[in-house]
Amino acid sequence: MKHFTESPQEARIVVVDDDPGTLLVLANILKSLGKVYLATRPGEAVSLALQVKPDLVLLDVEMPDADGFAVLKELRTHAQLADTLVLFVTSHGAPDIEERALSAGAIDFINKPVQADIVRARVCNYLTLKQQGDQLRRWSMLDGLTGLANRRAFDLALDQEWARAAKNGDLLGLVLGDIDYFKQFNDVYGHPSGDACLELIAAVLRDGATSPRAVAARYGGEEFALLLPGIAAADAAQVAEGLCVAVSALDIPHAGSHVSSHVTLSLGVATHTPEPGSRPGVLVRAADEALYQAKDEGRNRVVLARS
Ligand code: GH3
Ligand code: MG
Ligand code: MG
Ligand code: MG
Repeated sequence: MKHFTESPQEARIVVVDDDPGTLLVLANILKSLGKVYLATRPGEAVSLALQVKPDLVLLDVEMPDADGFAVLKELRTHAQLADTLVLFVTSHGAPDIEERALSAGAIDFINKPVQADIVRARVCNYLTLKQQGDQLRRWSMLDGLTGLANRRAFDLALDQEWARAAKNGDLLGLVLGDIDYFKQFNDVYGHPSGDACLELIAAVLRDGATSPRAVAARYGGEEFALLLPGIAAADAAQVAEGLCVAVSALDIPHAGSHVSSHVTLSLGVATHTPEPGSRPGVLVRAADEALYQAKDEGRNRVVLARS
């Protein structure tokens, strides 16, 4: 499953400088703050950064093949590095270099010759800032109750996977699930028990997201979504059947349900090969209509949309 829950890791710092002596000095200064990776050539810097996905890059301004500005520009063309902070290291005290560095997207700069305590303190501050930003970005994608991807994360993943499937002529599958008679569940057992029930069902959804790019999300209050890239209709329906059975097997008592003595889920399934330039709303509508049909036909079941 695509992960939205990674916890903070040890900081990763890439240092780029054409002078091996400076590199070693900086590596020594920074080693207590995280894992340090070194590059002496601008060309290496970008491939190293793509591999390491650093929190922070310390970038020499003056290098023979390409200057730090060119490297920064290339780093910024990669979406995976959008959040990486870049600190320029320069022997220039000239205000125009400083202004250029900041407006080019560097967070700050450090002057050469470097002073160990100042470099360490400054890098430490920026790493804290970066990791706070990462934490906020993670939280902004997570549902607070269940820990699944939230609606925002789901919508982003749906747009991305839709575009990818359109480009490759692949299938994209979507399962929408809605708890049966959940209002009555809250009425009978109380809202806190309702929340606990949502957490248990979320765990079933999470277990259902077995393929690498699958996304399990809380789509709405008591509605869940499972996005299944590259899946055929029959296989998506089988995944949904598995979820339906697994939710029943939780055996959560539900005295307010008209279809069972325990909590059940109704599910709608749709798959689509997107037309280039089309929008994913058509897939969501098809899965949603199938879900409504599952409700209409008696709940606690899976309906596969006709494609
Ligand atoms: P149906 O079988 O047709 O789906 O009936 P239903 O009662 O499940 O549908 P309805 O849409 O009327 O009710 C949804 C209920 O889900 C109402 C709302 O109180 C409850 N709900 C939504 N979000 C939460 C939540 O975060 N926690 C709890 N405990 N309940 C929630
Ligand atoms: Mg240099
Ligand atoms: Mg509902
Ligand atoms: Mg419901």
